[in-house]
Amino acid sequence: MAKVVLGVAVGVAVAACAVAALVVGRRVRTRRKWKRVVGVLKELEESCETTVGRLRQVVDAMAVEMHAGLASEGGSKLKMLLTFVDNLPSGSEKGTFYGLDLGGTNFRVLRVELGGQRSSFDRDVAQQAIPPRLMTGRSEDLFDFIASSLQHLVEKGNDSEQSPIIKELGFTFSFPVKQTSVSSGILIKWTKGFAITDMVGKEVAGVLQQTLARKGLNMQVAVLVNNTVGTLALGHYHDADTVAAVIIGTGTNACYWERTDAIIKCQGLLTTSGGMVVNMEWGNFWSSHMPRTSYDIELDAESPNPNDQGFEKMISGMYLGDIVRRVILRMSQESDVFGPVFSSLSVPFALGYASMTPLMAAMHEDDSPELTKVARILKDDLKIPDLPLKARKLVVKVCDVVARRAARLAAAGIVGILKKIGRDGSGCIRVGRTRSDTKMRRTVVAIEGSLYTQYTMFREYLHEALHEILGEDIAQHVILKVTEDGSGTGAALLAASHSSKSVDNVQLL
Ligand code: ADP
Ligand code: MG
Repeated sequence: MAKVVLGVAVGVAVAACAVAALVVGRRVRTRRKWKRVVGVLKELEESCETTVGRLRQVVDAMAVEMHAGLASEGGSKLKMLLTFVDNLPSGSEKGTFYGLDLGGTNFRVLRVELGGQRSSFDRDVAQQAIPPRLMTGRSEDLFDFIASSLQHLVEKGNDSEQSPIIKELGFTFSFPVKQTSVSSGILIKWTKGFAITDMVGKEVAGVLQQTLARKGLNMQVAVLVNNTVGTLALGHYHDADTVAAVIIGTGTNACYWERTDAIIKCQGLLTTSGGMVVNMEWGNFWSSHMPRTSYDIELDAESPNPNDQGFEKMISGMYLGDIVRRVILRMSQESDVFGPVFSSLSVPFALGYASMTPLMAAMHEDDSPELTKVARILKDDLKIPDLPLKARKLVVKVCDVVARRAARLAAAGIVGILKKIGRDGSGCIRVGRTRSDTKMRRTVVAIEGSLYTQYTMFREYLHEALHEILGEDIAQHVILKVTEDGSGTGAALLAASHSSKSVDNVQLL
């Protein structure tokens, strides 16, 4: 009997030990996996490092590439395109001008009434989604649609269509164009889902002009510009110290005011103002000093345009969310803390190209103690239910690392422009231990795009980096100013400042 009792006792003890060992084993395994997940974050943090020293190297590289792009055609990854915009609106413009803005998804027509008083103008805007069938049809149908919208706005206003006075129009056309004058340019290729083959190689403003004539609209296309130039124009209209414009939205780009004698690739370029706006196409900038991770390399390889737009792929709304998705996917592969590898995470750009970035921003900025918004987005949008709080915290940290790197690189890009045009304070005189600010001129950069305007953490990181790179003495003279809807309004303002009623100032000798 005693033997039996002893046998049972031993059996129970062995079983208990086995269970305990199992529990401990599982705990050890879980801890090990968790360590691997944390390791993924650590590695990300290290490879996204943007010390001030590193950012200054990016600044220098940007300035060097700008020089190279101005020196010769194809001399740099920066195209540094001539815009033929040789004067910017000053605020003294008068009259009624029209703007057309054909961007990605929306189309806008607007009229501005300029009274010669800076900062006070009346605006009438009509916005429409571009019917998808027009994006891939015939150019005639697209331009008929554009002209009809314009006709509608003209009829709505006080302007008589039959007015003998020709109205002038600025056309913002945000596709790659080889500009041939301020009011003409040839379409190189379509992007953003447009594919109207009969338009490629055609002069864009000419096609619009013919359509306007066919519709009986007494209007002249005075300028053909890209959206950054519109932003600079609107910025300059409100503030004459505006020297550059940056867009950080779906994509990213910048333009700035350059002296014509610095545009070496175009010898004999003469303008009355002595300057011209240069469209940098900075999305394609690249420097080996930029901190690149395996996620960036994979994203690039799986994108429709590999080896292209390297700067844009680290900065803009089209890509940031997808970098975050890739890191979360890696974490879920390392550990089942995230549950099984979710198929929703495995598809590149699963939520569409740009829509993951607003979700990333919302998770990043969730300040509830339980991270309830993060939980909801993970569950509803990414189909990852029941992620424990400590894992949700990790997700927020991933968003932080990716957004911070993007914002700091964008700041370095801006300082690169300032350095190129001598507005980074490096020419200031040092008095004692601090720099004298007597020589540093007030410098305004117009800025537009939802990533900057809607994503508070991104904006704050960008400002912080600007201050770190420039130092407080200099940074206090550099102002980033948000312009609302510069693309269309700026085009109308440029139509005013390049009005055919004034002489054409650009000559190519
Ligand atoms: P576009 O560049 O097409 O002219 P926007 O300037 O509005 O348009 O930028 C749209 C981009 O901004 C989208 O790609 C999106 O990812 C990003 N975005 C929009 N809203 C937010 C937000 N609240 N937080 C972060 N990013 C956002
Ligand atoms: Mg835009």
